[in-house]
Amino acid sequence: MHDAVVVGGGPAGSSAALWLARYRRPVLVVDSGEHRNRWVDQAHGYLGFDPMHPGHFLDVAHEELGRYAEVAFRSGRVDAARREDDGTFTVEVDGELLATKRVVLATGVRDVFPEVDNFFEHYGASVFHCPTCDGYEARDRAVVAFGWSEQVVGFALTLLGWARSVAVVTDGRRFEGDDRHRERLAAQGVRVLEDDAVELLGSRGDLRGVRLRSGDVLPCRLAFFTIAHEPASDLDVQLGCAREEDGCTAVDEQGATTVPGVYAAGDMTPGLQLVQVAAAKGTVAGVACAQSLRGEGGIRPGRENEVPGYVGPMTEYEDAERPGAERLDRIEGEIDEIRNRVADQQGENEPRFIQEGELSEDEPVDDTIAPPG
Ligand SMILES: Cc1cc2nc3c(=O)[nH]c(=O)nc-3n(C[C@H](O)[C@H](O)[C@H](O)COP(=O)(O)OP(=O)(O)OC[C@H]3O[C@@H](n4cnc5c(N)ncnc54)[C@H](O)[C@@H]3O)c2cc1C
Repeated sequence: MHDAVVVGGGPAGSSAALWLARYRRPVLVVDSGEHRNRWVDQAHGYLGFDPMHPGHFLDVAHEELGRYAEVAFRSGRVDAARREDDGTFTVEVDGELLATKRVVLATGVRDVFPEVDNFFEHYGASVFHCPTCDGYEARDRAVVAFGWSEQVVGFALTLLGWARSVAVVTDGRRFEGDDRHRERLAAQGVRVLEDDAVELLGSRGDLRGVRLRSGDVLPCRLAFFTIAHEPASDLDVQLGCAREEDGCTAVDEQGATTVPGVYAAGDMTPGLQLVQVAAAKGTVAGVACAQSLRGEGGIRPGRENEVPGYVGPMTEYEDAERPGAERLDRIEGEIDEIRNRVADQQGENEPRFIQEGELSEDEPVDDTIAPPG
């Protein structure tokens, strides 16, 4: 029985595992090695590592995890997961069944790509999907935005915050926006071409343009696309976790899903989809998961009884019920006894103890008496 199985070894899952390990929880990380930005030459905006190569970043992260005896790493895919009647879980990794007390899902999302020749030659070097991640690289350059839904309007206008010019190519479909949308784009000099993009021209890192079905070449140095992305796995659904309307797994502020004992982090949960955010969400979920294993927190209120070994957040204990409260009372009693004994020996009513903030040359400290602990 593992304490926790983390599914996904990207930034979110690796962070969750790191913090579970630091709480001394035996944790198994299962990763199929398809992290979302594996196509990218450089990822940006991670404080202290800007820019960084995503593969190298994860290699370092996994090496760090490998230094913890509590962490086991397995390459493979979790195909199925279920919650047992006793509140534990069974996950199936490449046909093998593993038992665990907790599950952390960090399986990310999968992008839908446009069908254009040479797409993968340029993807991650000059072709991107996220203006937040790579808009800065588009500054003062001619950019093409692929998309046909209303969403492409905001997308193209956002890109104008960096780019010299933006043209929308609908990839052969009809633009789904209305006249108002067209006017807004036209007012900013954004052309909408209801044409099919058939080929990206140039070599990796040196995009020269997009060849259209009509034969025209649209010169550009960068291209962005907004089509769709979807959850990379349905393990959350298999486990009974609720999803948000947009398909993200619903979590509370501790990364707890609606199923007690299951946590989720990273791109599969609501919010910004960035490496640093994914790592931070993994930290939150990993800590909450570890605390729940100590019976101390990290479980949604009202669901406590559904998780084995859970006794409740530390902060909610009445003094008398607090674990270790008895021991603390005993120590306090011992301190009082010593105080009284010393006071008797010194013939004083009250012995002098070192009080914080009272050290001064005018009042020499009596260091013959130190309270235990
Ligand atoms: C082209 C591109 C450029 C980007 N540029 C930037 C950037 O510059 N800066 C930035 O901050 N962010 C960038 N991002 C976003 C960034 O990649 C994500 O926010 C980040 O990778 C999310 O981390 P994650 O751990 O949630 O998911 P991922 O990194 O996708 O990791 C999920 C892991 O789970 C594994 N997995 C999935 N299903 C299973 C399963 N069933 N069993 C076992 N393992 C499984 C996958 O193989 C994968 O390794 C970019 C993304 C793309 C696509």
